[in-house]
Amino acid sequence: MDAPLQAWRRLNRWLLPWRCLLCGDAGADGLDLCAACAAELPRNTRCCARCALPLASPAAMCGACQRRPPPWDAAWAPFRYGWPLDRLEARFKFGRDLAAGRALAELWRRLPSPTERPALILPVPLHRARLRQRGYNQALELARPLGRAFGVPVRHGLLVRARATAAQSELDAAARRRNVRGAFAVRTGPALPSHVAVLDDVMTTGATLAECVRALKRAGAQRVDVWALARAPTPGRSG
Ligand SMILES: [Zn+2]
Ligand SMILES: [Zn+2]
Repeated sequence: MDAPLQAWRRLNRWLLPWRCLLCGDAGADGLDLCAACAAELPRNTRCCARCALPLASPAAMCGACQRRPPPWDAAWAPFRYGWPLDRLEARFKFGRDLAAGRALAELWRRLPSPTERPALILPVPLHRARLRQRGYNQALELARPLGRAFGVPVRHGLLVRARATAAQSELDAAARRRNVRGAFAVRTGPALPSHVAVLDDVMTTGATLAECVRALKRAGAQRVDVWALARAPTPGRSG
């Protein structure tokens, strides 16, 4: 970071000190969260090694992965989608609260990361209409600080929405898969690096990420990892 920008940030922080976005106490550790609230964010340490589905105890493959192996090569979702992370995520995604997104990205990048780094991070794209309505792509906002921290370039606009899809939140697993089938495409251009990661904010059934992975593999990527801030516990669902 250059000196004027650093000085500007210091001045800003003096005028606007870190404040916990959840309880209003003083922030800690260079975050807009206090230490107690940050510690409450549920970590996804016990999960399926293949798809990061939260489990009671860690497993190499959950039942869903055994029935239907996912198309990606590795998954990294360090948090569980639950209280109080869901509050920050809702503010970030639906409340135009970019400070909540910055705090989430900062927490994410501080966690132990996969040792085999991709050569490129591709955020899950939003359809134009949704992007216009929201004003930003939450996946891209999370990807940028992560990419900077890991020294991995972030490319948006390479993986694109081929068509608009209905919101996934109201659909069951099978309907989610149908809803996103063929929804993504990779722009033609220079060859993709052999190892890339596709990044989203929350992974629920994984249908959206799986469809992105298929598009990237069709476009020539050899290894595609999926990265999500949080994985929702969805027992009994697959895909
Ligand atoms: Zn707090
Ligand atoms: Zn699994």
